[in-house]
Parts: sequence; C-alpha cells; structure tokens
Amino acid sequence: MSPPRSSRPAARRSPGAAASDPAAAQARGASDEPAAADSAAKGPLTLRQLDAIDVGRLNGVGSQRRKALAEVGVASVFDLLTYYPRRYVDRTAQAPISEAEIGSEITVVADVLSVSARRLRGGRRMVSAEVGDDTGVLSAVFFNQAWRERQLTQGRTVALFAKVENYRGRKQMTNPVVDVLGDDSTADRTGKIVAIYPQSETAGIVTWDVANWVAEAQRRCSVRGIADPLPRRLRSQLGLISRSRALAEIHEPPSMSDRWAARNRLVFDEFLRVQLMLRSQRLAREAHELGIAHDVGGGLIEAFHRRLPYALTGAQQRAMADIDADVSTQRPMHRLLQGDVGSGKTLVALHALLVAVRNGHQGALMAPTEVLAEQHFYALRVLLDGFEVPDDSRLSGKRPLRLRLLSGSSSATRRREVLVEIGTGTADIVVGTHALLEESVKFDSLSVVVVDEQHRFGVSQRARLRESGRDDRRIPHLLVMTATPIPRTAAMTVYGDLDVSVLDELPPGRTPITTQWVQGPLAAESMWAEVRSEIEAGRQAFVVCPLITESESLDARSAEQMHAELVAGSLAGLRVGLLHGRLPSADKEATMAGFRSGRLDALVATTVIEVGIDVPNATVMVVLSADRFGIAQLHQLRGRVGRGSHRSTCYLVSDEDPTPIAVERLSALAATNDGFELAERDLELRGEGTLFDERQSGRSDLKLASLARDLNWVQAARDAAAELIATDGDLDAHPALADEVEWFAGRRDPDYLQRS
Ligand code: ADP
Ligand code: MG
Repeated sequence: MSPPRSSRPAARRSPGAAASDPAAAQARGASDEPAAADSAAKGPLTLRQLDAIDVGRLNGVGSQRRKALAEVGVASVFDLLTYYPRRYVDRTAQAPISEAEIGSEITVVADVLSVSARRLRGGRRMVSAEVGDDTGVLSAVFFNQAWRERQLTQGRTVALFAKVENYRGRKQMTNPVVDVLGDDSTADRTGKIVAIYPQSETAGIVTWDVANWVAEAQRRCSVRGIADPLPRRLRSQLGLISRSRALAEIHEPPSMSDRWAARNRLVFDEFLRVQLMLRSQRLAREAHELGIAHDVGGGLIEAFHRRLPYALTGAQQRAMADIDADVSTQRPMHRLLQGDVGSGKTLVALHALLVAVRNGHQGALMAPTEVLAEQHFYALRVLLDGFEVPDDSRLSGKRPLRLRLLSGSSSATRRREVLVEIGTGTADIVVGTHALLEESVKFDSLSVVVVDEQHRFGVSQRARLRESGRDDRRIPHLLVMTATPIPRTAAMTVYGDLDVSVLDELPPGRTPITTQWVQGPLAAESMWAEVRSEIEAGRQAFVVCPLITESESLDARSAEQMHAELVAGSLAGLRVGLLHGRLPSADKEATMAGFRSGRLDALVATTVIEVGIDVPNATVMVVLSADRFGIAQLHQLRGRVGRGSHRSTCYLVSDEDPTPIAVERLSALAATNDGFELAERDLELRGEGTLFDERQSGRSDLKLASLARDLNWVQAARDAAAELIATDGDLDAHPALADEVEWFAGRRDPDYLQRS
C-alpha cells in the first residue's frame, strides 16, 4: 500500500509552483531536443509538468474517482501514465470456446456461469468454475486455490489462458491464468492487445476505467507531445525508442513484441533517474565531507585477533581490509557489510570499532530495537571480556576497554552516568538504538559508527549522524550491516551510493538446517512431539507467533495467547518463556538471559527475535502461520538456529489454504538455505518494484523495472549516468535531465530506498 499522493505537501503539488519552472525546463530541454525548439511557447510536456496536472482534470474523473485513484497512488497525469499494465491479454489470439482446440494453449474470454468448491480425498481443495461465451462452455479447475471461489463470482467476465484439455468429453482448463475483466460497454476491444491494469476492489478501480482514463490522458497530451530529455546519441546507441512512443505503446502495444521496446525505454528511464540521483549525491558528499584518518593495524588490533578462539574466515579478513582502507583516509567511509545470517558480521563490526578506540576516538554500534541493542552489547561484552587498551596516565600503562549500553530501560541515574562517559570520552564503545542520535547524546570524539540492519535505518537518520557527535564537523565513518541478502542487481541500484563488502563464506563447523513445511493439524501434532523430544534431549526451541497486524499490541496479545495455549497443551510441563515488544525491558532481559543460560526450554516470541539472537543450543525454530511472512524474514528467523554443533530443524507451519505465492515462498525456503539464492527467488516472485518483504511497502522508484530481470539495464544506466554527470556531481550539460532528476528527488519519499 503506498501512501496516498494527495498527502504530499501542498507546495510541491501546487500547479503554480510547478508552472514557474517549466519555462526554464523547456528552454533547457531545447538544447537536448532540437525539434522542441521549433514548437511555440508551449513545447512538449516534461514529467514535472505531467506531474503537476491533477487527474481530476480528465474527463470521467470526478471527485469520487479522484479519491479512488489517490488510494492506488495516482494523483497526477504522470502517475496515471505510469500506472502500468500488470499484464496483457492478446485478444488477437483469442478464440471462441467452440473453436478452442483440445491441446492448444489459448485465451478465451467468457462469463462465469457458476462456481463451486469441494475438498478432495487427501485434503486438497478444488474450485471449479463453469464459464461460457456465445459459442459454448468450458470448465476451469483450480487445485489448492480456495480463494478462486471468491474471485470468480457469477456474472464476471474473465480471460482465461491455459492449455485446453478434454475431461470426460468436455473442454477444461487446469489452473489457468485468470484476469478478471469486469464488463465494459464503452469500447470494443476484440482483436486488440488489451492491457490489464492492477485493480483494486477496495478502491473500486477496474481495468477498463483505467484504460479509458489513460486513453483520455494520451489524447490530451498529444497536442503538445511528451518531451524526451535523453540525448539523441545515447538513445540511438542503446536502441531506445522515444519517451512519448514508449508511454503510448506500453498501454496500447500494436503487437505483443512492441511492448518490449516500450518497456525497455521506460525501464531504462527508471534506472537512469535513480542512478543519476545516487551518483550526484555521492559526488556532492565526497566533495564536501571530511572524516578522520585513522592509523590501522598495530598492537591493539593484533592483540584482539590473537584472543579469538577461532581463525577469521577469508571473507571476514577481506571485509576488515576494506574497512581499514576506508578509515585510513579522510574521506568518510560509507560501506555496506552484507552477509547472510551467521556469517560473522559482529566480529567485523567490532574490528571497525576497535580501530576508532586504538586511535583515541570512540565507536558506536546502533541497532533497530532495544532487544537487539542488548544482544549486541552482550555479544561484544563476551568478546571484549578482560580486554585492555593502552593508557599512559596509569602506572600499568593500560586500562580495561570501556563498553557501555545506552538503553531506554536503564534507570535515569545510570543513563546520566553513561551520557557523561560518552561526553567526556571515558566510554570507548557505546551500543544503543537510534536514541544514540538524539540531541542529548554528545560524544567526545566519535569516529566510527556501525549500524545494524540498514533497511530500517533511513537516509534522514544518516544525515542526522553527520550532524551529531563531533564539534570539529568531521563526519564519522559509517559501516552499515545487513543480513538481508540483497542480490547484486538490487545492491547496485539501491546502494549505489555505498561501497559494498560481502561475507560470502560461513564460519566452518556449521550444521545445516533441515526445513520442513508443516500443513494441517495432524502434521502439527507430530511436529510438537518432535519439538518435545528435542527439548528432552537437552536442546532448546523458538516458537515464533504469527504477525497479525502492524500493531505491536495485537501481536503481543496473540503471542500471549499462544504461550498460554502451548503451556497448557503441546508444551505442558516444560519451561516456556514469553518475549514480545510490549514487555517491560527488565522482563525481556530476564527472559533472554533465562533462554541463553538454558533455564528456559522454549521461547514463544513475536518477530522481535528476528535478528541477532545467538543461542547455539537452540536447535528448533517453529514459525507459526509462516505463510504470512516474506522470504527474507523467514530466512532470518531460520538463521536463529543451526549455530551450534547439533543438528537443527526449522518448521514452517502454514495455514491450511496458503495463497499460490505463499506456496512458492515456502517451497523455496524448504529447498535451499542459501540466502542469496532465496533473495533472487524472492525478487522473481514478488516481481517488480518492491525490494524487501511486505511490511516494507512504500512508494517505489521502480514501477516497471525488475531487479531480478533487468541487470543489463541497471548496468547501462550506471554507465550512462557516469558519462552524463560531470565530476562535480552536476548535470550542467544536460539541463532537461537535471530538471527531471531534481523533480524526481523532490517527489520521492526520502527514506524509501533504505527503509522498512
Ligand atoms: P551474523 O551477525 O553475521 O549473523 P554473528 O556475528 O552473530 O553472525 O556470528 C555468528 C556466530 O558465528 C557467533 O556465534 C560467532 O561467535 C561465530 N563466529 C563468527 N566468526 C567466526 C569464525 N571466523 N569462526 C568460527 N565462528 C565464528
Ligand atoms: Mg548479527
């Protein structure tokens, strides 16, 4: 769900504000597009101008419709023209049912006559629908897609695509691709390629309405035409068609193959805008920001490495070398450390923090939640136990390293103490949540900041970081850690302004995790029996409760309920703890400590345990209602086990009737433990535009482009951006593009790319 556009600040949307710019933009546009210079005062429309025209000005869009469109993120004519079809139905290849031949793959367009559902032996569910056109009837059957019963209500017009089969003398399609068409009395679309738009039942948006509005918008735009800011040379070099043709043909492709040419152009534009923006931001940053140059290596760091009970992995060594190279210069580090769960990121983070300490500065580690901050604190405390740093003011020449936790749950007195230690430089390494960025927290000399789980840490917070911490206006080096495996394509796009180190190697001696998908009450019963026997063998188990809503208190209640049920039932007689975000910090801490030390056998929790919890004796992960989670999240949860020498199992318990996409997700998780493979699969499944899991919805910069499929276009856009942008980060030679990027940067949610 994207935030309704209408909630954007009025100033940005005001036609007056936009109208002052276009003249300049057109004048600039002319240099790139000689043809435009000839047209009168009103030249071709720029995207900025299209975005300044309210959809309400189109015929057929009254105030009701305008509101409905706002709900699906369409407020301006630009939004409408880029409200891209989800699919196309090739009605040039459509057959009347009577002529649909057995064995052929074909589209039929027909009305739903009746629909029914039943349960087959073995528990599978079958929905069957009778559909008919003027020439005959056909049945469509669906297995394990109970929701089709709600979709295919009687009287709806649908397009079905599949192979035609013969079932007992009747024509049938099994699991066809379905498009609900609704009915459209205003246009004859037979014999054409018909765009199917994303429809919204709640907003009351149906595909034909969108098609009609788009056509109306196109007609109105055709008077002035749509400007093309891309230099001609680049366009022909890349074999791209013009923007106006692309925007027309993506909606009404003359042939199925034409839509690819349209798509390519629009995909390239999407990537180019992002790349130009990231690149100019990066260049501007590099030109202005100054950090602290550190001495790397030396006794302290070596001493730390010598203390470790194991050898570093090659990947850890490489990441540390990358960091050393960054922090030894005055250019502030901006590095993403990407590594699958369990790949050993904590150690790399600590290395970076110790470089700060070794140079007489301070390091900070920030986590997205209190629970995680506490976890990190304990992990570092173990690694640093008894570790000493040089101190000339002491007789021994040494003092213990001072590690501090700034936690919301500490007493006011303790908090004040820690704040003083931070301010005087007595604290060497500070762990906390984003509260570390608050005004009241003043560091004496902060020089390295590590942020865990980047996607919950926004750009604006990064900006705040730049302002915090130091009086000399030097900017701390920043290392961002993420366990969400981001495919290379996505990383290139989203983190275009960050350098990337990857931990692509797990520490040795890990035991692989078996993943089982559990469906139905019988399977669940035997699962609980297995959980019990693992616990009786001395192991521990996590039970993650369904994510029901965005509301923390409802999730908490469901966890409480589940805890009560399990204690009274499947896990009776065992020591079962409860952990959720609503508990007082002291309780959370006590529960975590109890689980870590083995005083608790099982931990029933909400997704607060998603990241960072490290209990090697825990070998069982049960995720309830796993079909409601995204791939990345499930993979994270699974990563909580498999950390010790015992064999581990992850049970993904699904509702009885998961959606087809959930089935794909659960199968993918059962098939592989490789986070990168899963991330690629995730992108494929969710397709276009969204990068992370469902919770992370927001307005996307990529409406059409697919990070899974369009690597070559990312590459092309990066190259083009490098060529177009001058070394100082300005697009001086390409004013029309500069204007477009400025408009684009202004209208987007500043935190979208890096936020959950
Ligand atoms: P991540 O944060 O990347 O998920 P952690 O940093 O929590 O992973 O490390 C996971 C586990 O692996 C920890 O128990 C840690 O002590 C251990 N570990 C880290 N590096 C190594 C290594 N080089 N060899 C063996 N074990 C390691
Ligand atoms: Mg970690």
